[in-house]
Amino acid sequence: MSEQKKYQTIEEKQYLVRFNADTKSHLHVKDESICLTKCPDKICTIFCPAEIYKWEDIRMHVGYEGCHECGSCRIGCPHQNIKWEYPKGGHGIVFRLG
Ligand code: SF4
Ligand code: SF4
Repeated sequence: MSEQKKYQTIEEKQYLVRFNADTKSHLHVKDESICLTKCPDKICTIFCPAEIYKWEDIRMHVGYEGCHECGSCRIGCPHQNIKWEYPKGGHGIVFRLG
């Protein structure tokens, strides 16, 4: 009997999903000046498992296309500065189940 693999790398897990991205973002940083002046740690760039948020000098780049729809940014931003909605019907993450 072969030993079952218990863990997958993030790259292997990423292979199990694909994305049907909308042309409009379902994620919005409400006020970038709050990020700039009140959030030195920019923790959305850390807690997001899909690395959607990238701080670029004075602005936040939001690569919404690869969002895993985990909802963490709804509660994780200490300033409630992220507006998060599910992508429009038929868009967003698609799970490949074999
Ligand atoms: S956690 Fe919230 S306030 Fe901080 S950088 Fe991200 S979006 Fe801006
Ligand atoms: S819902 Fe999850 S994956 Fe999508 S941007 Fe927020 S934290 Fe990242």
